[in-house]
Amino acid sequence: NKQKYFITTGSKQFDMLLGGGIETMSVTEVHGEFRTGKTQLCHTLCVTAQLPRSQGGGAGKVAMVDTEGSFRPQRVSEIAKTRYDLDPKEVLDNIIVARAHSHDAQMDMVTQLGVLFADPERGPFRLLIIDSITALFRTDFSGRGELSERQQRLNVHLQRLVKHAEEFNIAVLVVNQVMADPGANAMFGPVLKPVGGHVISHACHTRILMKKGRGDNRICKVIDSPCMPEAECTIQLTAGGISD
Ligand code: ADP
Repeated sequence: NKQKYFITTGSKQFDMLLGGGIETMSVTEVHGEFRTGKTQLCHTLCVTAQLPRSQGGGAGKVAMVDTEGSFRPQRVSEIAKTRYDLDPKEVLDNIIVARAHSHDAQMDMVTQLGVLFADPERGPFRLLIIDSITALFRTDFSGRGELSERQQRLNVHLQRLVKHAEEFNIAVLVVNQVMADPGANAMFGPVLKPVGGHVISHACHTRILMKKGRGDNRICKVIDSPCMPEAECTIQLTAGGISD
């Protein structure tokens, strides 16, 4: 059961950059500005994680912790139906979505999910999405002098995700925001960096930056991978999700 899987992103080029797709037993971070396609990537993976291995899938179920209310069942249905010719109801039945309104709830949910992942009657689960990993931590620890406590708690949270990924052979995908880097030279406009600093970079094996391109094109850049060089590709956002 401890064989690694790669779950297809829906784009061949993007999969190639990632060494095959989003990897199980590993935590992948995706960050980028608003409307760059981070949630569309999640919606696509909610479907592809369920595809058979022969189609680049994970042949498993999906769990999602949604902190932003960004999960759209309608989008998942559309992708399942138009792109993969699957029964949307069956696909949605295999996705467990939990809505968190505080960082405490978010952390508790991930702990609870461990019980679910360990239950052979309920699984197997192959994908866990946290969208967004940092937003509630930023809200709940927004006061002066709270940064180090925030980072400590975030670290505990991420270490639990790493453990789940390895223990249950799950691909963990965490969505992250970007913020203006106050330390950067802003001569050409604000320089954006992902939230969470070294706590995130330490826990995430692979990091993806998504940027806007022309129209519905998006640029995906793999910026931190243990086995792949830094490289980028262009993908499209379509009714069928992420594609070449
Ligand atoms: P983020 O999560 O990074 O803020 P999203 O994943 O929500 O961004 O991406 C929003 C973009 O997705 C929109 O700008 C639009 O171009 C594209 N999009 C949303 N729905 C569809 C659809 N049904 N067909 C094609 N593109 C879509």
